[in-house]
Amino acid sequence: MEQDRRTFIQTVAKSGIAISLATGSAPFVITTRAAEPEKKLGFALVGLGSLSTNQIAPGLQKTKYCRLAGIVSGTPEKRQKWKAQYNIPEQNIYTYETFDKIKDNPDIDVVYVVLPNAMHGEYTVRAAQAGKHVLSEKPMEVSVKKCQEMIDACKKANRLLAVGYRCQFVPFHLEMMRIGREKVFGPVKAIEASFGFKIGDPTQWRLKKALAGGGALMDVGIYALQGTRYTSGEEPAEITAFETKSDPVKFKEVDETINWHIKFPSGVMANCTTSYNFNGLNRLFAGYETGWAQLDPAYSYGGLEGKTGKGAMDFPQVDHFATEMDDFAQCIMQNKKSKVPGEEGLRDIRLLSAIYESIHSGKTIKLK
Ligand code: NAD
Repeated sequence: MEQDRRTFIQTVAKSGIAISLATGSAPFVITTRAAEPEKKLGFALVGLGSLSTNQIAPGLQKTKYCRLAGIVSGTPEKRQKWKAQYNIPEQNIYTYETFDKIKDNPDIDVVYVVLPNAMHGEYTVRAAQAGKHVLSEKPMEVSVKKCQEMIDACKKANRLLAVGYRCQFVPFHLEMMRIGREKVFGPVKAIEASFGFKIGDPTQWRLKKALAGGGALMDVGIYALQGTRYTSGEEPAEITAFETKSDPVKFKEVDETINWHIKFPSGVMANCTTSYNFNGLNRLFAGYETGWAQLDPAYSYGGLEGKTGKGAMDFPQVDHFATEMDDFAQCIMQNKKSKVPGEEGLRDIRLLSAIYESIHSGKTIKLK
């Protein structure tokens, strides 16, 4: 049966016919490559900064279904270095100005946007218009409007869009989801989630509102927010938030330390903290009717540790980025929506906006 389906897909793909598989999602024009699961999908990275260099490119080498096929960078030295290091063909190397020509390159299936937050929208839209599937780093963008434009562009182009929520593919976090879903210790009662670090260089884009959209909250607080949502299995009903700034010069444009409180529809409450001003905040804790579970460190790239009242969690450490990219590649190959689609990114931006709104208004924000 599976063989029949594959042969059918390959036949259709070779003829270049647009087809909607019975998945309930929008029809894709199936490319030959997407229809051949044995082939690895070609990823092009846009922005060769710290994350691309230290995590994503090494992660790509560990994937089963992906390969580093192309790069987009404004820096000639970086383009040369990456070309040599990863054996990238000249025709797969772009600048921000030549990027749109990627539409003529069948070797690139997926564009992975790894730029400052406020640039995710533009490059996602341009990639979709070039006929590529898109993985955008978190936070998805800096406003609900931009997120919606990204979703619309990918929908219009019949391309898949996913957000780089790596933790949602990691065994320790999957276990937090399972414990809640299966009520292993009964219903969840309360959650504590926090993530922060002491930020260095005062001139970096993360401290500029126009490029970052916000400070610690947008950058790392978003992990804590995600954690509360998938640990409770609910969407927030009310949010109340507070902010403090001990260094108003360094954090002139963006938030430094924020504490927020979520009430979920069932009555479960979550306390969350994020900061750019001290290290050590890296935790996801849930108390249930008959027990507790905790990850600490929870959101680092590796070395996660999990515990419940019954003992240590015993899971392998996986490469978060390899796992996330392989999942997206499989979604493309199987024509199914990612579990972290654009809509998931947009939901978080809406909630982060509610946190800022609560801080500015001094009120509790009720969510629809
Ligand atoms: P970075 O500063 O190290 O790299 C940013 C890249 O964008 C650089 O190559 C820079 O040259 C390029 N760039 C292009 N135009 C720019 C401009 N106008 N201003 C500044 N840089 C410009 O940042 P990073 O740490 O690699 O983060 C990139 C994205 O990845 C961000 O959205 C960030 O939130 C996200 N991120 C995600 C994770 C994760 O765990 N998923 C971790 C770190 C960063």
